[in-house]
Amino acid sequence: MKKITILVPAYNEEESLPFLYERVSKIMNEVKDYEFELLFVNDGSKDNTLNEIKKLREQDKRVCYVDFSRNFGKEAAMYAGLNMCTGDYVTIMDADLQHPPELLPEMLRIIEEENYDCVATKSINKKGYSFFRKIFTRCFYKIIEKMSNTKMVPGANDYRLMTRQMVNSIISVKEYNRYSKGIFSFVGYKTKWIEFEVQERKAGTTKWNFWKLFSYALDGIVGFSTAPLTLSAIIGLFFCIVSF
Ligand code: UDP
Ligand code: MG
Repeated sequence: MKKITILVPAYNEEESLPFLYERVSKIMNEVKDYEFELLFVNDGSKDNTLNEIKKLREQDKRVCYVDFSRNFGKEAAMYAGLNMCTGDYVTIMDADLQHPPELLPEMLRIIEEENYDCVATKSINKKGYSFFRKIFTRCFYKIIEKMSNTKMVPGANDYRLMTRQMVNSIISVKEYNRYSKGIFSFVGYKTKWIEFEVQERKAGTTKWNFWKLFSYALDGIVGFSTAPLTLSAIIGLFFCIVSF
């Protein structure tokens, strides 16, 4: 029997987890002929997230977890989860239910019947995100599109279902400052994009502030474009000539 891993990075999500489990377990029970693994990565939460996960583990042995010694960020949590998971198919899903688990059966059908390696999601709205963040995100995609050879899809989410082969390729990329949206695109593989309406956060608050987002955007640009390097070389050359 094939196994599906549902990988959920969680940082201070004590309020969201019971809602998430309710919706996800419904899907896990409905989708027959597959085994499931619900893998949480507790990213150094300061609230009761770890205990909530342990409670779920007690009632359902499909639940398992990785517990970080401190908060390392969502990228590190996804990377650890991808390294630890054992599924033949792996999906990454946010803990706050902004990514509806109900899309999973259709994603699975597409991979199995239409022969894709990955079904990725793109949100058609930005419900629950601030006006400022929407502008910032749009600018980022405009800039990265011009600077990078790796294609970044505007509106792309980390929510996706992938085959084991693709997951192995992703974990073989040993980038230190990871920008997963770039890595997903960099490794290639046949990907089908589906659109969905992003939901409001079920509980709790977003973990991103302006500086976190800004430094994440820089990771994306520095990791997937040689433009900053070329620019510094040109500036260096310019000052060299001027000094002569
Ligand atoms: N997250 C994490 N570590 C962090 C920040 C966020 O594991 O340092 C998780 C968080 O618990 C959630 C997902 O990453 O499951 C997305 O976070 P959030 O909803 O805050 O991001 P947004 O939806 O605002 O982009
Ligand atoms: Mg969210």
